[in-house]
Amino acid sequence: MQTTSQYPDLRLRRGKEASLERFHPWVFSGALTAMPTDVEEGQVVRVLAADGRVMGVGHFQIGSIAVRILSFSDRIIDADFYYQALLQAWTLRKALRLRRDDNTAFRLVHGEGDFLPGLVVDIYGDTAVVQAHSPGMHFARQIIAEALTRLPDLGVVNVYYKSETTLPYKARLDPVNDYLIGHSDTNIAIENGLKFNIDWLRGQKTGFFVDQRDNRALLEQYSRGRRVLNMFCYTGGFSVYAMRGGATQVDSVDSSAKAVALTEANIRLNFGDDPRHHAYAEDAFKYLDSVGDNAYDLMVLDPPAFAKHRDALRNALRGYQKLNAAGLRRIAPGGILFTFSCSQAVDRRDFRLAVFSAAAQTGRRVRILHQLTQPADHPINIYHPEGEYLKGLILYVE
Ligand code: SAH
Repeated sequence: MQTTSQYPDLRLRRGKEASLERFHPWVFSGALTAMPTDVEEGQVVRVLAADGRVMGVGHFQIGSIAVRILSFSDRIIDADFYYQALLQAWTLRKALRLRRDDNTAFRLVHGEGDFLPGLVVDIYGDTAVVQAHSPGMHFARQIIAEALTRLPDLGVVNVYYKSETTLPYKARLDPVNDYLIGHSDTNIAIENGLKFNIDWLRGQKTGFFVDQRDNRALLEQYSRGRRVLNMFCYTGGFSVYAMRGGATQVDSVDSSAKAVALTEANIRLNFGDDPRHHAYAEDAFKYLDSVGDNAYDLMVLDPPAFAKHRDALRNALRGYQKLNAAGLRRIAPGGILFTFSCSQAVDRRDFRLAVFSAAAQTGRRVRILHQLTQPADHPINIYHPEGEYLKGLILYVE
């Protein structure tokens, strides 16, 4: 029988056990007695306390996070480990009723939130899109792909691997984006009864931002009779919901012409040539500068992450303030603003402070109606608060 003694041992410095005792899944390189020289990136290692106790088993990586823990018990990381972990992830999504005839797009694995640090899996109909963020998950990709096709009732027959931009550059793994299993040319997924073309071959992330599903559904509720601006539209998710919700006008804006084309295609897929919708390839600030006051009664500001690291925090906060001030200045009285930040480095308080500063700058009467977050298929491991990244506010602006 295989035992974990086959794995290389990394030893913690005395007194560095506390975070692992609290089940935090990251071991920082500074907590180790020495960085091993004979261990390859992506290899499974054991982490031992100073007194020799096994604290956990995980993937080794060169960098400030040296080990991402896969199991806090002393167990082998084999195909059965991945199958069981994926089965648990699927069991949760089943409880959330995310796989239905009218909903075929959802996140199956959300990294640490599913106790699989370094792995993201999104499901689009019968295709799973797998993204590795760590060398360890990159090496396990085929085992993971096979396990995905074996999960009961999930119905995955194609597995596409898309890690060209998510793996650490220095690891020199040269991942190739390609199918690991099967192949699919039909790439339409359904979200709450709405159809979306998902371009997992070329699109950002896994091709679609599944994380805004609940917030898009909420936008639909506010859309009737309103003139809507969807800024940073990407695939037009918010626009499609606003159209169904009965908006009188929907304008989608993105600086990328490709995103504008994706949005137009998704509108056509659901509503044909509907004269209520227009899309513009334009920079957000330029566009907001060019529109008159009171042009919109409902606005969405869902920009890309302004801060990828904590160091960029101050500039990011200034960016959120500037953007929200531009939006708040333009929105009609009685208007509603959906505003978001998906930067992990910006916490809920920081973001709210930036929006508060923007409101104060414009001097308008602003109230918070809802405080939004990521949906249940992007769960936050309670021992890993860093997993909370999506923050949103719905504001009523007089
Ligand atoms: N709201 C989208 C996701 C937005 S992703 C959804 O629900 O799916 C961020 C988008 O912002 C990208 O499509 C990117 O092309 C666009 N973008 C980045 N910088 C921009 C800028 N300065 N002005 C307008 N769009 C921008």
